[in-house]
Amino acid sequence: MTQEPSRQGALTRRGLYGTLVGAAGALAGAGGLLATGAAAPAAAATARLRADVVVVGAGFSGLAAALKIQAAGRSVAVLEARNRVGGRVLNHHLDDHQVIEAGGQYIGPTQSRMFELARRFRVGTYRTYDRGQAVSVLGGVRRQGGLYPKLAQEYRRLAGMLDRMAREVPLDAPWTARHAVEWDSLTLQNWLDANTTHADAKAMLSAYADLWGAEPRDVSLLFCLFYIAAAGTEGVPGTLARLIDVKDGAQERRFHGGSQFLAQKMAARLGGQLHLSAPVRAIRRHRDQRGVRVFSDGFHVDAERVIVAIPPALAGAIRYSPKLPTRRAQLFQRFPMGSLMKVKAIYERPFWRDAGLSGISLQGDGPVRSTFDNTPPSGSPGVLFGFVRGSEARRWAERDPAGRRAAVLASFAQVIGPRAERPIDYFEVDWPGDEWSRGGPVGYLPPGVLLDYGEVLRQPVGPIHWAGTETATYWNGYMEGAVRSGERAAAEVLAALQA
Ligand code: FAD
Repeated sequence: MTQEPSRQGALTRRGLYGTLVGAAGALAGAGGLLATGAAAPAAAATARLRADVVVVGAGFSGLAAALKIQAAGRSVAVLEARNRVGGRVLNHHLDDHQVIEAGGQYIGPTQSRMFELARRFRVGTYRTYDRGQAVSVLGGVRRQGGLYPKLAQEYRRLAGMLDRMAREVPLDAPWTARHAVEWDSLTLQNWLDANTTHADAKAMLSAYADLWGAEPRDVSLLFCLFYIAAAGTEGVPGTLARLIDVKDGAQERRFHGGSQFLAQKMAARLGGQLHLSAPVRAIRRHRDQRGVRVFSDGFHVDAERVIVAIPPALAGAIRYSPKLPTRRAQLFQRFPMGSLMKVKAIYERPFWRDAGLSGISLQGDGPVRSTFDNTPPSGSPGVLFGFVRGSEARRWAERDPAGRRAAVLASFAQVIGPRAERPIDYFEVDWPGDEWSRGGPVGYLPPGVLLDYGEVLRQPVGPIHWAGTETATYWNGYMEGAVRSGERAAAEVLAALQA
């Protein structure tokens, strides 16, 4: 089901709803890749373009790749399915023109490429609001402030174990880790069951499956350890804390103007080389492997190389001829997108701050497992957002919107009190229902995939190269990983063009 914000707008006070910039395009989609089935590209293509390199997708990975190719003096054509750039990054403009984020939003320490781009394109950042006490609701008990001592001790023990195991995982080849076979045969849930009997610690670590929009039973332990290892940079090992924390962690900062503003500024540099509402339907390799023809609706582009900068689950919906090697094609089938809805309530003011609450919470049950204060930097209106993920997202997406809204607000009330149930506005983005994302926040790997398919993840197929955050090493799954993957694929292409 595609959750259209406009429907949710109708549920709330329309006047306060604001314009969800780009969301109509984002959520309705710009064409029907999956809805219309396989297109007949050769017959449909009429106009012909030419570029050295085609980039498929104008999310952070595609934009970063295109800028690097452009900087090297090569021509590039970026084909983006939606009528906007940014992909999983989407700004929501409030009525008073302030911006909050409907998709990816935070950056933090060791995400050096994102900070560098922010500097280069003059997009400022600011600290995420985290003053005051966080709330946990575990086993039906609500607590404010830090973890109770036994839980803190058990949590530290488990996090320490995961961090130590993650250090054994080589980022560019997790399948070669000494315990790879054992770890890729287990899920995170199996590991939790085997290593703790502490119900609250288990619930707390389970709630972190928000990271993938998955359940702990969905995710390979090896993939989970790889993800932890990836939360660092050269010389700075990744840790679970850096993944989940605000201070010193991945949630530390937000962008002035919203994260999509940076993507828009990057896109502006591409000028006429960017084609919106241009879904790629098919990629045909020339027989001698020296070039490609990339088909969109009504036109095609001939190029030396193509970078596919979209999630694997969507890359599998493109038609390739000749067909791709079997392992590459099967990898597409084994890299599902997470199930995640981002839900937000808007209040006159962030009233929970007066009560000494940060708005940050972790919940063991219910539709919402984590919340954050997403108030714009001016301090009003007050915005609280939460994630509905995994089984809850799958279940709640099919329920009636009014019931879902009531359940979400009841979860918010557990965190910030009964006033939460009387927002002046409410909206939600159902990323799995979005045609050009098909899920969120990221693709994740179930057991067995890294072991048998990992090595083909970044392997070019003739002139076809692969980018997208799901192909990243450092900060896989994040905007930082997307940028790094795009730059890596661009470097491959530039080297090949010089050869
Ligand atoms: P995408 O952003 O998915 O870009 C791919 C682009 O390709 C899209 O624009 C899509 O429209 C286009 N496309 C798809 N198929 C085709 C086709 N056939 N032809 C042409 N174009 C096509 N990351 C963080 O760093 N911090 C966060 O706080 C954070 N929170 C998140 C919260 C949510 C709710 C979500 C959904 C994501 C979050 N992320 C976060 C993840 C982050 O947004 C992504 O890692 C990143 O934006 C991915 O960039 P990408 O370029 O790899 O892919």
